[in-house]
Amino acid sequence: MDKIKMTAPIVEMDGDEMTRILWKMIKENLLEPFLELNTEYYDLGLEHRNETNDQVTIDSANAVKKHKVAVKCATITPNAARMTEYDLKEMWKSPNGTIRAILDGTVFRAPIVVKGIEPCVKNWKKPITIARHAYGDVYKNSEMKIPGAGKAELVYTDQDGKETRELIHEFKGEGIIQGMHNINQSIASFARSCFNYALDTKQDLWFATKDTISKKYDHTFKDIFQEIYDAEYDEKFKAAGIVYFYTLIDDAVARVMKSEGGYIWACKNYDGDVMSDMVSSAFGSLAMMTSVLVSPEGYYEYEAAHGTVQRHYYKHLKGEETSTNSVATIFAWTGALRKRGELDSNEELMEFADRLEKATIDTIEEGKMTKDLALITTIKNPAVLNSEDFIRAIAERL
Ligand code: NAP
Ligand code: MG
Repeated sequence: MDKIKMTAPIVEMDGDEMTRILWKMIKENLLEPFLELNTEYYDLGLEHRNETNDQVTIDSANAVKKHKVAVKCATITPNAARMTEYDLKEMWKSPNGTIRAILDGTVFRAPIVVKGIEPCVKNWKKPITIARHAYGDVYKNSEMKIPGAGKAELVYTDQDGKETRELIHEFKGEGIIQGMHNINQSIASFARSCFNYALDTKQDLWFATKDTISKKYDHTFKDIFQEIYDAEYDEKFKAAGIVYFYTLIDDAVARVMKSEGGYIWACKNYDGDVMSDMVSSAFGSLAMMTSVLVSPEGYYEYEAAHGTVQRHYYKHLKGEETSTNSVATIFAWTGALRKRGELDSNEELMEFADRLEKATIDTIEEGKMTKDLALITTIKNPAVLNSEDFIRAIAERL
């Protein structure tokens, strides 16, 4: 059999711990036997980030600007414990944060739907993709405890020194206040990322805020989305047979619960944080959530939504058997390969991505799965496989 060729590379960002082990197994068993795998490799493993003073993370993000498509393994975000464990020079920043700051994108998270792993919400038949705005609001806020009686105001001073004031509250006693912001340019790029992703995946786009209460702040989100939609996307959406739908956040939540899925739900930063945990746990497992960062310039970075599965890695180091689910990491690869195929008009590569996804899903549906899924499946007497045997079972089907 001739291997499938790739004319342009994918930026490959290797990572840490158990997912680094899975990464190698996936390449050896599921990719390299079938593809002339063409990647530009960056080692984002914590040791190498430390050696390069984190320059490798910056270099890898810049490489995405050149090649447009990346696939990323989960990486450790250092904390105090990791400082000692890896003898770090500095508490390096979250790689995902660094990459997002360079590419300026929106993160889309979607569950992988498999028969036998049923959502808790019985009418959800298709995946619900959450698009979370990743800038500002309460995540970049300023807060104060008010010690006693007094006046709290919002004050904006323009470049000429002119002040505009807005009363927050006349305090009679103790209380609390909070100030937050967003930037029109960031909201606009969030909107464009969502509209582009909806067109890419041919799904309706829902967006919701609390504009009835927040008449300036949330209303600005609503207005920017609508202006961009009318000016740039209305015709494209009609041609693709999809719909942009705005509603109040309360109404959106109620409709989501009654829906059958199959759309993108664009959320403000806080809503996305909270709702993505609800949606992913209701669909079954964090190990079945895909994640892709889409930049307004059309760069794509695919990854799994979960972390490095540290607990399993320590078992692996002790020589114990692990049963770690590689599905989301496999789908990160297929997402990147399919996108590479689309950009290069490489039909064979796109078809390979489809086949690998199908082989993965079929393997689970025939009852072969890792322990996390075996615990929640409705399939009778599933075969619980270890990390490597699960990947081998997929390879056999493929
Ligand atoms: P985690 O790696 O997502 O794992 C948390 C727990 O979820 C695991 O202990 C395991 O439960 C279960 N789990 C997650 N993925 C699984 C999989 N593929 N198969 C089976 N079970 C899975 O989160 P964490 O342990 O809190 O974080 C570990 C490291 O990952 C941290 O250093 C953190 O900084 C990093 N992290 C990276 C990213 C990223 O790169 N995108 C995201 C989140 C966290 P059981 O132990 O009960 O089996
Ligand atoms: Mg959260």
